[in-house]
Amino acid sequence: MTRALVLGAGIGGLSAAARLAHAGYQVQVHERLPRPGGRSNLIERGGFRIDTGPSILLMRDIVEGTFADVGADPADYVSIRRLDPAYRVFFADGTRMDAKVDRAELRAELEHIEPGAGARFDDFAEIGDQLYRGAREHFVERNFRSMREMFGVSNLPQFVSLRVYEPMHKLVGRHFRDPRLRQLFTFNAMYIGMNPFTAPAIYALLPYNDTVEGVHFADGGMYGVVEGLVRLCEDLGVEIVCDHPATGVLQRDGRAAGLSFADGDLEADLTLVNADWPWAQQRLLDREPRHPLPGKRLRYGPSAMNFYWAVQGDVGNLEAHNIMFGDDYEGNFRDVFAGKVHERPSYYVHVPTLADPSLAPDGHHIVYVLVPHSNSDAPIDWAHERDRVREFVLHDLEAKGVTLRERIQFEEVIDPPRWAEQFSLARGATFGLSHSVSQVGYLRPHNKDPHLRDLYYVGSSTHPGAGVPMVMLSARLVTERIVDEHPPARRGAPARA
Ligand SMILES: Cc1cc2nc3c(=O)[nH]c(=O)nc-3n(C[C@H](O)[C@H](O)[C@H](O)COP(=O)(O)OP(=O)(O)OC[C@H]3O[C@@H](n4cnc5c(N)ncnc54)[C@H](O)[C@@H]3O)c2cc1C
Repeated sequence: MTRALVLGAGIGGLSAAARLAHAGYQVQVHERLPRPGGRSNLIERGGFRIDTGPSILLMRDIVEGTFADVGADPADYVSIRRLDPAYRVFFADGTRMDAKVDRAELRAELEHIEPGAGARFDDFAEIGDQLYRGAREHFVERNFRSMREMFGVSNLPQFVSLRVYEPMHKLVGRHFRDPRLRQLFTFNAMYIGMNPFTAPAIYALLPYNDTVEGVHFADGGMYGVVEGLVRLCEDLGVEIVCDHPATGVLQRDGRAAGLSFADGDLEADLTLVNADWPWAQQRLLDREPRHPLPGKRLRYGPSAMNFYWAVQGDVGNLEAHNIMFGDDYEGNFRDVFAGKVHERPSYYVHVPTLADPSLAPDGHHIVYVLVPHSNSDAPIDWAHERDRVREFVLHDLEAKGVTLRERIQFEEVIDPPRWAEQFSLARGATFGLSHSVSQVGYLRPHNKDPHLRDLYYVGSSTHPGAGVPMVMLSARLVTERIVDEHPPARRGAPARA
């Protein structure tokens, strides 16, 4: 049997392992951390089950497709439902609105903020629908093996129709005048670590995705998805070894011959690296991470300051997902992307226990706070910044009627340097390399190594990019490529639930 070694049990690594096993490879996954999931990890303590990383589940079809494509019934592994509202939004002037699922209710919420905005949302959603479907077909769900495939005559018209050269905030600004609605329909660029004021309009597919395709929740939280993937892998015969960091990629005769560990080497016919791509270049291959185009500088995305609070009692007027806008929206992004601190940041609050109460003991809630932040490359006194941001958020929540301070039973904090060190992320960039136009598709690190044969990559900093569904797609694309280039010795069997 063709033997494949996967380095890293993030969502990308697990999804690829399942697909490879189903395609007929013998697959072993080696993970540095004590449990699988990567950034999508878990803090388990005192009956609380707290997700560390992703929380907003989008593109359900791709998530469920990961299971269905290997012959499994997704319902045997994950239980996913749509949330209503998708989120509650608190604006800096004290007003708030809910992103309702029902179109008439959503329109009414928008009208309340800007007369006429309800009807204009329909036009905006139509454009979002074109962008979403077009981007998936022409840019996201395909491998780019050459410059020509991306910039060839057949793909070029898509750059215009998918508004790659128009800024996102301008497109949104044509539909909505009220600054609050402009914030509502642009903040989503941060899902992939982009600044809405520089992001191309193609990313207006993100607010469309939230409001039309829907924000979903998996029972057990996002770690419920990780657990589903682990079970899928096991049912397909994948072996997952945790607490086993690789020290390097074994190199022989111009090819990757497997992985090195402190306790010896393991040989393989092909090696798939899921560790963050720039991190892996530096730490496992002893190379400077380089842009696929010679001479072009790689750009890194921002990071996040995360607080995880185990709270006794209720959480006031919060919903499962809440967006808290600060009073200097544009300045906030400018600072985050310039490596500076911002005094009064916008932030996101997730209360997963409102969607799944089993995640905490009775009468308790989990409050997960994510403050978008410059990455760990910035010259910042992180200990001071952690305390400052914590105080700001607690105070701001109090002003919104949510008093938590005295009821926090325990807390964890992950700041940008901890994202870097504990989760092996270059510069602590939580969403990987930037998704600017110069770093997507063929211009993003490829899923195949340019120098060593039999070495492949999957995950956020490779094509198509960051986010749970995107790394699942990355797994599909790299598996297609591997099957093409390394046909397995025998075909695999469907998963047994
Ligand atoms: C705070 C935060 C919030 C987010 N919010 C969302 C969200 O709401 N929705 C969404 O869709 N996405 C979100 N994301 C993005 C999403 O989590 C990621 O895009 C996705 O989980 C990345 O998966 P991955 O497989 O590429 O990488 P990773 O999760 O980074 O997995 C890589 C794995 O490789 C392992 N590894 C590294 N080095 C070694 C080694 N030497 N030996 C063995 N193993 C090694 C790592 O330990 C890790 O387990 C968020 C991310 C963060 C951090």
